[in-house]
Amino acid sequence: MVVGCGVGAVARGRVRDDAKGDQYPGDSTVAETLRQVGVLDLQGGVQEHLEHLRLAGVSGKRVKEPADLEALAGLIMPGGESTCLARLLGIFGFEDPLRRAFARGMKIWGTCAGAILLAKTNVGDVSHLGLIDIDVKRNAFGSQLDSFKCEALVPAVHPEPLPLTFIRAPQILRVGRGVNVLLRLDDYIAAAESDEVLVTIFHPELTPGVAFHRYFAHKCGVSTDDGAAPATVSDWNQKSWMRFAPIA
Ligand code: GLN
Repeated sequence: MVVGCGVGAVARGRVRDDAKGDQYPGDSTVAETLRQVGVLDLQGGVQEHLEHLRLAGVSGKRVKEPADLEALAGLIMPGGESTCLARLLGIFGFEDPLRRAFARGMKIWGTCAGAILLAKTNVGDVSHLGLIDIDVKRNAFGSQLDSFKCEALVPAVHPEPLPLTFIRAPQILRVGRGVNVLLRLDDYIAAAESDEVLVTIFHPELTPGVAFHRYFAHKCGVSTDDGAAPATVSDWNQKSWMRFAPIA
């Protein structure tokens, strides 16, 4: 079954953990970290987000332990599996440090499972961090085989349609006060944001598009290479998990 934007294609792959090939900044001074965006490195699409930050001209940092959150301008919580990620957040003692970093102004972007973790309400399931007033419904499109990709215009993020990839995605069913809808498709919300939190139910990091990474960097007050590079990267696919499990 193909659902969503009307031009979807079934994905037969799965999100695999990142192959830790390239080196990204690990040890940074405080001055550097204030300009950095972290990627929570517990499970899921970590490498792909780091690669997209690099392509957008943003300094990225793996966040493997709570101390890595210190002085970050923003944090990306990647897609993967929200139940697994929630357990790992607890096991590695992330919850309180994450809330403290958020309270001192660190912005957070949750992609797919990351958005589920950030939602105030996880309909019919256990809610987690509750840092943005939205209701999400896990696995709302069906099974992994009901994954799909499409293009959509997200005017706040980029003036041209962007490629989007949905992998066993949740749907955002409601947004509360202070949360703006960035993209509505059919009868669900696909992207939304408050002043502090961005949520997307799709994976820009699994497409050649870097516009969302630039958008989030700006939200964090981090400069990017705007204008110096295109919004889509023609040779991006080379390092992606998709070369192992291409989406038709
Ligand atoms: N289905 C996953 C969950 O409920 C999310 C999938 C994803 O992040 N691509 O956690």
